Amino acid sequence: MSTESSVEKPAQRVAIKGASLRLGEGEEALEGCRCPDCGDTFYPPRTVCLSCYHEGLDRVALSRCGALHTFTIARMALPGAFVKAPYVIAQVQLPEGVIIPTVLDDVDPESVQIGMELEIVIEKAMSDAEGNDVMAFKFRPLKGGAA
Ligand SMILES: [Zn+2]
Repeated sequence: MSTESSVEKPAQRVAIKGASLRLGEGEEALEGCRCPDCGDTFYPPRTVCLSCYHEGLDRVALSRCGALHTFTIARMALPGAFVKAPYVIAQVQLPEGVIIPTVLDDVDPESVQIGMELEIVIEKAMSDAEGNDVMAFKFRPLKGGAA
């Protein structure tokens, strides 16, 4: 007699390992935390404020747009990477002051400039063993040129 249940669990979206993503209802975003005492914001989320040592930080959705802080061009991709070389390894500074390590998409690596405006892209990278959609993020040039 089989004890296996055939109850179908709907596929869920989960963040890729190492990323902190807000994937629920509403607009998807990176999830960081803000100190209720001094107001500083951190990514990835942490339990103690690095600025004032307050414990118990608030989880917050971070801005979806930021500016390129620094970058380098990778001319070879690691085996299994979901980006193709050449690609841009970047640090993006969000208005909250946090710096996000990421890669850039939809951009000619040779045209990338420090300070350029970027927006986050959150998309499925793979499926896991349970059939969940594993979501990853990257940044691309801000479309529409909100000047
Ligand atoms: Zn603080």
